[in-house]
Amino acid sequence: MLPISEIKSLLATPQKIVITTHHKPDGDAMGSSLGLYAYLIQLGHHVQVITPTDYPYFLHWMPNNAEVIVFTEAQEQAAELVANASLIFCLDFNSLGRINELGELVRVAPGYKLMIDHHLEPEDFDDYRHWDINACASAQLVYDFIVNELGDGKRMNKDIATCLYTGIMTDSGSFRFESATSSVYRIAADLIDMGAEHWRIHQLVYDNATENRLRFLGHCISSKLEILRAYNTAIIAVSRQELQEYDIVTGDTEGIVNYALSVNGIRLAAFIIERTDKVKLSLRSTGDFPANEICKKYFNGGGHRNAAGGVSETDLGETVQKFKSILTEYKTQLLQ
Ligand code: 5GP
Ligand code: MN
Repeated sequence: MLPISEIKSLLATPQKIVITTHHKPDGDAMGSSLGLYAYLIQLGHHVQVITPTDYPYFLHWMPNNAEVIVFTEAQEQAAELVANASLIFCLDFNSLGRINELGELVRVAPGYKLMIDHHLEPEDFDDYRHWDINACASAQLVYDFIVNELGDGKRMNKDIATCLYTGIMTDSGSFRFESATSSVYRIAADLIDMGAEHWRIHQLVYDNATENRLRFLGHCISSKLEILRAYNTAIIAVSRQELQEYDIVTGDTEGIVNYALSVNGIRLAAFIIERTDKVKLSLRSTGDFPANEICKKYFNGGGHRNAAGGVSETDLGETVQKFKSILTEYKTQLLQ
């Protein structure tokens, strides 16, 4: 592993830098990436943010969004940038499988790999790691990296603060999760002092939905929500046909699982959708119930204890059946 002194001296001269993050990037993934981007360009580096896939429209307002390259839309250009980068920042993920085909390109690339992340069980592909599972967001760790590790708080500006605030706000459930400690509130206050307009950011992310999204949410809640009281579990499963009916695009389904978890007594909620190539599961849990264990053991996935995801190779109906059958194994914990 490279010491921070080595990172500092590398960053003292212009480098070719790639910043990448997990597929279907969320607010933390984009906030961390564009926040770090806004910092690094000030130092005169050539910096490119590359996302493995597209990301929600309600994140497109972020500063420097126009500079992002989406791998699936520019594969050759992205591959060349990764191969020629002297530094590759890997933000908000810790296993190369999370960045799809980009993963192999990053693995074989000669540049140093720098991971900034808050997920459990990092894979061993990095040369530098700023990693803390207690951080509420990777954006919190990017703040810490710039201000405390590099000691460069003087370069924080409005763009950086706006992006990092977005990451912290979205990954902490608007500061309501247990991970939103007093230190997180202090960092948020600092970011507001640096120019992050918290009210505007919240509006742009959460009050920016299409009419379709809201109607689809209504459909999920009124017609699709299944409550299994015997297991304190709620499930919303939607088919490809329903997604098409409502003209659902990337980002429209984000957060719907939280409505299932908001029912009183529910300890585990699952949102299961049939995408074109596979069935995707999003799990949320309360307290010490390990949603990530279910994803890791049965659905080739992982995540945090209370927010995890995975995929299934079988069809939607079979996936729902499989999920329900797994619940018996966890019945005692679910009823605690
Ligand atoms: P979401 O349900 O919002 O897609 O994801 C919730 C959390 O689970 C995220 O923190 C993400 O890192 C993790 N996660 C989601 N899908 C996967 C997956 O397919 N594999 C792994 N390892 N983690 C996932
Ligand atoms: Mn995150």
